[in-house]
Amino acid sequence: MSEAVTKHVEEGTLNIGALHEGFVLDHIKAGMAQTIYRYLHLGRLDCQVAIIKNATSHKMGRKDIIKVECPIDYLDFDVLGFIDDNITVDVIKDNKVIEKKKLTLPHRVVNVIKCKNPRCITSIEHGLDQIFELTDPENKTYRCKYCETKWDGTFMHWVAYK
Ligand SMILES: [Zn+2]
Repeated sequence: MSEAVTKHVEEGTLNIGALHEGFVLDHIKAGMAQTIYRYLHLGRLDCQVAIIKNATSHKMGRKDIIKVECPIDYLDFDVLGFIDDNITVDVIKDNKVIEKKKLTLPHRVVNVIKCKNPRCITSIEHGLDQIFELTDPENKTYRCKYCETKWDGTFMHWVAYK
C-alpha cells in the first residue's frame, strides 16, 4: 500500500480498503452524502462506493466522506462544485493520490436543479433543459435562465435526466 493511501486509511474512521482508481470526496457536510450520491449518479456505477457518515472532523465537527472506485473521468465536477465547493477531492490512480482537485462554482448548471416558478416556460413546455446561471458568486446565487427565478438553495428528490 502506498504512503498516500495509508494516510487516508489512518485519517478515516473506517478502513474500507484502498482504491486502485477513483476518488475520495472529503469534507462533505454531514448529512449531504446521500444527496451527492444521487446527483452524481453513483448508483449507476457498477463498482464500489463507500459512504462514511458522521466521521469526526477537527474542522467541521462531523462530516461525510465518499469513496468511489471508478474511472477517473467519470465524475462531474461542475455538479459537485455546485452542491458544495468546499468538498475536497483526491484523485486516486494505481493506489496513489495523483491530484487534489479544486472545486469551483460552475457558471451554469444544466438539468441539475429545477425551476419552481409555475409560470416559467420550463414548467409549461416539457423537454426544455433546466438551465441555471450563477449571477452572484459571493452569495452563491443561481437564477433560472428563462425567468430569472432565484434558486432557493434546496436540493430536491428530482433527479437530473442526463
Ligand atoms: Zn424559470
